[in-house]
Amino acid sequence: VVAYLDNAATTPMRPEAVAAMKPWMGDRFGNPSGSHSLARAARCALDEARDLVAEVLAVEPGGVVFTSGGTESDNLAVLGAVLARPGAVVYSAIEHDAVRGAAAAAATLTGSELRVVPVDGNGRIDLDRFAEACDKSVRVVSVMAANNEVGTIQPLAELARIARRRCPGAVLHTDAVQGLPWMDLASAAADFDAISVSAHKCGGPQGVGVLALRGNPALSPVLHGGPQERERRPGTHNVAGIVGTAAALQVTSLTRGRTVAVVAGLRDRLAEGLLAEVPGAVETVGRADKVAGNCHFCFPGVETEALLVLLDDEGVCASAGSACSSGAVEPSHVLAAMGLSPQLAAGRLRLSLGWASTNDDVDLAVKVIGEAVWQLRNTR
Ligand code: PLP
Repeated sequence: VVAYLDNAATTPMRPEAVAAMKPWMGDRFGNPSGSHSLARAARCALDEARDLVAEVLAVEPGGVVFTSGGTESDNLAVLGAVLARPGAVVYSAIEHDAVRGAAAAAATLTGSELRVVPVDGNGRIDLDRFAEACDKSVRVVSVMAANNEVGTIQPLAELARIARRRCPGAVLHTDAVQGLPWMDLASAAADFDAISVSAHKCGGPQGVGVLALRGNPALSPVLHGGPQERERRPGTHNVAGIVGTAAALQVTSLTRGRTVAVVAGLRDRLAEGLLAEVPGAVETVGRADKVAGNCHFCFPGVETEALLVLLDDEGVCASAGSACSSGAVEPSHVLAAMGLSPQLAAGRLRLSLGWASTNDDVDLAVKVIGEAVWQLRNTR
């Protein structure tokens, strides 16, 4: 038995997405940029996928840019905006490395000033400091819809209102990769010019993302070599992946209300179970402030890496929330920005639920985590 509680890293695919992709991995293999019948069939599938994605995210079909994932979407929004027109970059201290890295590249390539806005102990952006950071020299503002480690939801409408008033020329971007499964972005991100999402966080395939644009903000491509995606993102389309992405976004959107209710119930049971089972367990962010799928704890006196090994042995797939490519646990810039002590952060655990999570996952996780923490605390 495996309890898969790492949905913030990637989700199992939705059957609807798998079914939609299959023909495009078989005999329907045309390149949509061509002109013969196989190519035209692929072009048709691409157009239909674009329409579906546009509807879910409430943008025009022409504003949908298909990319290789959330990382590329973030890079195109942040770096692309600054390459098109230089200026300062404003982002929060708890953004994903895709935004932080793109901002750093903007500074290196164009000399952009980087303005990093602090967050409070729950991971909410400090609105006063945000307002101070926004002035007419700002070219792009990037704030995440929901955090990938602790799940905190940002007040997007309020942030957009402040930014529009103080830096009217800036491109407003939200990294909504972790928001998509839980938030209706058509309304939550309605005031943004650019929205990044990633298919594999909501039951679609890995390696496909979208940058959804409103009002045609000036962006330079970050890749070069072809006219695809209205010259914003060159390269032969991943037709199967894009078709699967559209199917995943559609089913996510149609079932979101029910999924959120069910998963929030499971998450609450998981959190309550851990609070009851594990002495001294600290729930990092209040449940009212975050997405339904996130359950984040710190266990004093325990090292995350050792805990993850024990959990894996017992069939519980969880995460530290931030890992480098070797899989080793590295310090969390998110928890540091929230003011957690390094000692407390050293025992962090992210359990992330998704559309396929069950009561059995919760039961196994509570039991195994309780035993593992006890073992680590008592066998040193
Ligand atoms: N932004 C956030 C908030 C994420 O959680 C992730 C992935 O974990 C990304 C961006 C990158 O997305 P992708 O894995 O599709 O490159």
